[in-house]
Amino acid sequence: MSELSLSAPHTPDRRNASRLRRALPWAALVALLLVAQTLLVMLTINFEASRAQERVELVAAEASAEVKRSVSHALQDLQALIWVDGASPRWRLEAGEVLRRHHELLRIERRTANRSIADAIESPYRQPLFGLMPRHSLDAETDAACATARRTSMPTFSRSFFVPQRGGLGVEVMDVCIRLQQAGQEAGFIVATYSLASLLEAAVAPVQARSYELSFVEGDGTRLARAGMPRGAGIYHAERLVDLSGLTLLLRADSAESRPSLIPNLTTALVLGLSLGLFALVVLLLRDVRKRAHAEGALAEALAFRKAMEDSLITGLRARDLQGRITYVNPAFCAMVGLSAEELLDSVTPPYWPPERVEEYRTRQNARLGHEGSQQVSREGFETVFMRKNGERFPVMIFEAPLVDGHGVHTGWMSAVLDVSAQRRVEELSRQQQERLQATARLATVGEMASLLSHELNQPLAAIASYATGSMNLLSEPDWETLSMVKQAVVRIAEQAERAGRVIKSVHDFVRRRQHSREPIRADQIIESVLPLVRMQARKSGTRIEIDIPSPAPRVFCDRTMVEQVLLNLTRNGIQAMEHDTPMAERVLTLRVMRVHERWVQFSVIDAGRGIAPEVASRLFTPFFTTRSEGMGLGLSLCRTVIEQHGGALDFDSRPQGADGSGGRTEFRFTLPAHVLASQASTPTNP
Ligand code: ADP
Repeated sequence: MSELSLSAPHTPDRRNASRLRRALPWAALVALLLVAQTLLVMLTINFEASRAQERVELVAAEASAEVKRSVSHALQDLQALIWVDGASPRWRLEAGEVLRRHHELLRIERRTANRSIADAIESPYRQPLFGLMPRHSLDAETDAACATARRTSMPTFSRSFFVPQRGGLGVEVMDVCIRLQQAGQEAGFIVATYSLASLLEAAVAPVQARSYELSFVEGDGTRLARAGMPRGAGIYHAERLVDLSGLTLLLRADSAESRPSLIPNLTTALVLGLSLGLFALVVLLLRDVRKRAHAEGALAEALAFRKAMEDSLITGLRARDLQGRITYVNPAFCAMVGLSAEELLDSVTPPYWPPERVEEYRTRQNARLGHEGSQQVSREGFETVFMRKNGERFPVMIFEAPLVDGHGVHTGWMSAVLDVSAQRRVEELSRQQQERLQATARLATVGEMASLLSHELNQPLAAIASYATGSMNLLSEPDWETLSMVKQAVVRIAEQAERAGRVIKSVHDFVRRRQHSREPIRADQIIESVLPLVRMQARKSGTRIEIDIPSPAPRVFCDRTMVEQVLLNLTRNGIQAMEHDTPMAERVLTLRVMRVHERWVQFSVIDAGRGIAPEVASRLFTPFFTTRSEGMGLGLSLCRTVIEQHGGALDFDSRPQGADGSGGRTEFRFTLPAHVLASQASTPTNP
């Protein structure tokens, strides 16, 4: 039952759209995760690469500084040799000491001013440098350096050169040439040979040596000397210039590190991404759970509310499936028919159908529940009769609507059932009361007319009496003449008796209860039938009656007796209003009939009486309101009820009299439905 609703059916399009709406956040989440992971991998790889590059730059910078430091350190020691006399054996000792201290130095020479070798000491840690090739054959670079040293008086480095060694090996070396002076005279040179490879080895720390290769390279990339790792990976490298006087060396550091590999990074990113995704999912789930709990709470509340509402409703509710089986009834419905829900549920022929009408109801139900019936639901409801458990029949009003479930499928019918028996009883009671009231009012009118009646009847009765007395006198001496006079008198008696009879009949016609029924009738016929009584009232005060009816007279559709009574009331009021104050010549009562609309006919009763004062006007239609001592005050309120029951309206228009009693005017008018065609006359609307 919770899925049932009375809303319009959902279309498949709308279902797809809502499914798509639900899937969209998930698709977006997956896409975001993918993008985030890719970015993460790329950033990690980039970060690793830049870290590796930074490291190699640092190694290169440190190594170049170290090379420079050890070169200049050795140069200081070499420059100290200037002050030792070359000829003395101390020079050799000192030079040997310098070679021991500085492993990168391979040989120290003392040369004469014309650059021939005067003395040479080899490093104790190496085999003699020029064992394979004589020194003079490799002197070109040294000579050039010494020439510069002489010119500048500064220690000058030669360009590096390769010295072959035994076993196919060799060393790349460079010379430094230091000019010697004695007493302002040139006294020769000190030439020291540096091993480039040893310089590098001294410059690289053991830890760095494991992962970096240091080398001196030439501009074209030729490697002159190297130290550390046998071979760098060639991906991360850095170069630094080592400036020495007369020579600039290019130091290159190569990292053994390879490119950051994708797989471990991808794994990290995946793990990270998945954890993030999981976290997001948990958050989403939590929110979903919270929402669901909220929705469940709201649903429970709505259900409780609905239950309370259904239980407290005085309207009976009943649901039926498409086969007409009862699927739900509320307590009000059970109370109405006096049967329990168990007795009612699942029954196809409900126990509240009166047995004599089962066939009729089944046919009607089949028509309504059938396929065609589902398309045309009347919102206005229909009236029928149900039976209580004790067999009592009672009228009900049923309003039916299609039952549509949460998926938009038409599953049955929902009905609201109202027990209208109380209403019918009240209606009947009020009808009876009204009838009684009208009868009373009629009698009251007649009562008021009693004096009039006696006056009216008096005349013919007096005439009859005198004719009778005259006839009796004549009959005491009968002859032919008197006989003919008696005959005349008897004719007069018969006339007067008939006149009296007419008076009695008109009163009798009015008082007699007639069947209330509406019928088409000409307006002039209504006026004519009240006219004798109106004239009777008018005669006493000398009021003239004027009739204004168009020809042909319009036809109206009404309850003739009731309308006659309305007219009698209005004419009586009009005549009474003129009775005292209006000059005799002006006492005219006009009865007018007019077609005011294609579907409405208006009746007017116009008098030239005193008019209606505002304080009277406001209470005119209040029952029992009267200004006359003998009045009942029911006339106008009943008149309005009668006219409104016909669908018409009763109102008035009034102008007060002048001081001399003339010029006053009151018009009471009411409308009745015109009888155009029987079919149209049944449901007119008030203009
Ligand atoms: P009743 O005639 O018994 O007094 P009605 O309901 O017919 O009761 O009238 C109520 C009052 O309305 C009357 O007492 C009178 O004062 C006033 N009335 C009705 N018709 C007219 C009229 N044509 N001219 C002036 N006053 C009127």
